[in-house]
Amino acid sequence: MPIDQPNPAAAARGSVHVVGAGILGLSAAWHLHLAGYREITVVDAGPALHGTTPAGAGFVLPAAADESRRGGTFAVPISHYSLDFYRRLHSDGHDIEFGEHGNIVMATTESFLAESAAGIAGHPLADPGTRVLSAADVVSLTGGAVDGAAITGGVFMPRAGQVTTSRVVEVLTALLEAEGVQIVYGARVTALQTADGRVSLLSTSVGDLPVEAVVLAGGAWLNALLEPLGTRLPLLPMVATRFVTADAGLAADMPTIQSRDLGPMWLRNLHGSFSWGAGPGYRSSRLLRASGVDTGVAVGRPRADVLVDALRVHQPVMEHVFPVLADVEVVTVIQGQPVWTADGRGYVGEVPGVDGLWALGGDNESGVMNGPGMGRLLADIVTGADDPIADVAAFRLDRLPQADFPTEESIEAFIASEGDRVAHAFTD
Ligand SMILES: Cc1cc2nc3c(=O)[nH]c(=O)nc-3n(C[C@H](O)[C@H](O)[C@H](O)COP(=O)(O)OP(=O)(O)OC[C@H]3O[C@@H](n4cnc5c(N)ncnc54)[C@H](O)[C@@H]3O)c2cc1C
Repeated sequence: MPIDQPNPAAAARGSVHVVGAGILGLSAAWHLHLAGYREITVVDAGPALHGTTPAGAGFVLPAAADESRRGGTFAVPISHYSLDFYRRLHSDGHDIEFGEHGNIVMATTESFLAESAAGIAGHPLADPGTRVLSAADVVSLTGGAVDGAAITGGVFMPRAGQVTTSRVVEVLTALLEAEGVQIVYGARVTALQTADGRVSLLSTSVGDLPVEAVVLAGGAWLNALLEPLGTRLPLLPMVATRFVTADAGLAADMPTIQSRDLGPMWLRNLHGSFSWGAGPGYRSSRLLRASGVDTGVAVGRPRADVLVDALRVHQPVMEHVFPVLADVEVVTVIQGQPVWTADGRGYVGEVPGVDGLWALGGDNESGVMNGPGMGRLLADIVTGADDPIADVAAFRLDRLPQADFPTEESIEAFIASEGDRVAHAFTD
């Protein structure tokens, strides 16, 4: 059963084509449906589940409410909406393997603990129940997965959940199809034509599609869709790596865990196994391309062995804190291309200069966390809603001059100067 019903007052609108069947495109399609669009087609170049979304670790937390996020707090209503959305999916009986056990920002040094306590627990938007943890608290909350002697404590963020990303895609796809939305796989968009300043035709690998309105949600390939129209967003695709181990007996209610002073790293329970990643498993797609890894041509998930090797080298650092990691082998390696933006905020809005064309992207590795909310914001913008869920201006596509970020190197340099957690990923 659908989690929400279309607003009966919503006028039936015309047709819309969504390019991209990842979390952003599916979320946009769902919210356009709720807003009254009755003829929706989603086209995707690949088969189902081949883009970046299924690589996502499935952390869902309003992380913008912490001072370490460059994008500020604009995304807070979006991430709150998204967590609520997943909770509703779950409570309506859709199996997205949802859990809501909070998140621990873990510290291995006193200085990082103090910084986290001030920045997260002391943040004006901190949720009630946000609290500083001792090392013993962390051990207890993680069911003993952490060696208390290896850490100094942490900060607990109660409003945080987790989902299984491939399940979210499958559930949303099924919901959309049940509502009559057409999802066409194997249809790569090769050109977008306009007539009298308005979108008119999508050329795809399986034929031309006349269109009235188009939403571009092409993930790491968004600029390839926009560039022929004269728009280039300051987007920086990056390859990120996730390891999943054999069953380690992790507690089902273990909070998700992040730590900036351990790589940085993130780790969560997935069916009793560790699902984790860390800084050495990240590198900008540009740099990888320069060393011969195909991160650009294929619309799918790249394989960058150099990052897999680097994460294996980093593993002993993780084992020092999570001793059980040493006893379980890595059974799955999955990589994908999240996309950083220069100012740390996503893009949701109309494409300047072309009527009937909108785009959403620039996920900043938070597309799962923010996707449903970004889809809702997109629908609010497309339909001219009086009360959009977030500040529309903060997510506009033309908010930064293209000339300020002419190349991916220029975005890297800016992000590095801002001290982003992935700044290390821009050097060999
Ligand atoms: C290891 C890792 C861990 C992560 N962990 C998290 C996490 O815990 N929480 C979180 O919020 N985020 C996480 N992310 C990031 C998250 O996965 C992304 O933010 C999200 O998947 C982006 O979704 P998307 O819809 O923009 O892209 P995609 O899922 O890649 O979807 C884009 C789609 O567009 C299609 N497409 C592109 N060009 C064309 C074209 N020309 N014609 C037709 N189709 C086209 C592609 O085929 C693709 O299916 C992680 C990512 C990785 C790699």
